[in-house]
Amino acid sequence: MKKILLVFAIFGTLACNHAEEQSKVEAATPEAASEEKDSLPNFGIVIHGGAGTILKENMSDSLEQQYRAKLEEAVRAGHAVLKRGGTSIEAIEQAINIMEDSPLFNAGKGAVFTNAETNELDAAVMDGKTLNAGAVAGVTTVKNPIDLAIAVMNRSEHVMMIGKGAETFAKEQGMEIVDPEYFYTENRYRGLQRVKDSEKTQLDHDQKTAFLDPFIKDSKYGTVGAAALDKYGNLAAGTSTGGMTNKRWGRVGDVPVIGAGTYANNKTAAISGTGWGEFFIRGVVAYDISALMEYKNLSLQEAAREVIQKKNVDLGGNGGIIAIDHEGNVAMEFNTAGMYRAKMNKDGALEVAIYGEK
Ligand code: ASP
Repeated sequence: MKKILLVFAIFGTLACNHAEEQSKVEAATPEAASEEKDSLPNFGIVIHGGAGTILKENMSDSLEQQYRAKLEEAVRAGHAVLKRGGTSIEAIEQAINIMEDSPLFNAGKGAVFTNAETNELDAAVMDGKTLNAGAVAGVTTVKNPIDLAIAVMNRSEHVMMIGKGAETFAKEQGMEIVDPEYFYTENRYRGLQRVKDSEKTQLDHDQKTAFLDPFIKDSKYGTVGAAALDKYGNLAAGTSTGGMTNKRWGRVGDVPVIGAGTYANNKTAAISGTGWGEFFIRGVVAYDISALMEYKNLSLQEAAREVIQKKNVDLGGNGGIIAIDHEGNVAMEFNTAGMYRAKMNKDGALEVAIYGEK
């Protein structure tokens, strides 16, 4: 009798285990798997490497490959941070550092030259959760200005620091300091000489010639930026730039002006811009997109289109933005021929693009 009970007990346990296995197998059907995936927290990242007259006919295959590869490397690095549970601030810092260190972009190494043949860098960051922000302008020795902007946000009671003072703070914070020569690149130097040469041939030597030069107007801006949504639902945006070729007299562009080239708010979106900075400042571009979402209930895409395709154009400016909203929707809007850009969502779907294809 005992033997019979034992046999039943063994069979019973096996049967139960089998039923459990069965339910595990059932949970792994495609529908259940996709439901499981959908319930995971959303996250994503979008980056840009500048907008402007970027045309396929002016680009060699090998240069295009270099841009695509660097954009992919940067967006993947930011995505990896988000995937392992890092914050949106950490993700944008990673992505921007990679572009700052590349001479392909007008930020960090590869920054454009001022009229005085120096490189003066601007950067900003904004945290959408706290609405805290940090910005630096006119720095000449800080290797990664976005890191300094983050330090201003997190480790000082200020929002914006400029020039020598910002550099003193950078040293105190143990940031990597480089000789200004580090930012020299032959390409950018030649770009400045071209503008200066064409200026000499123009009669009108007022300040506007600095930017109205056809080379500048028709060239690419090359600023870099990133916007991200992390697993905790927090948005952040950051932007870093050398500004505009031939800029004068301590000119500061839109990038470090919070609300112009950089803005983030968990209620709406995180936005980073690139383009003719004076017009981005006057149009308060990034904040305008957020305000249209907040006060007029426009979607991110509608708001971005309104500001970039209508308001910025009507004012006489040009450029573009990348942005991500609190639901992970992404906008990459520009009114120029092209914009270096890339995005990656929580499923790892990657898109890298340069020209006007949408
Ligand atoms: N917006 C930048 C500035 O005006 C230029 C750029 O986007 O490359 O400083």
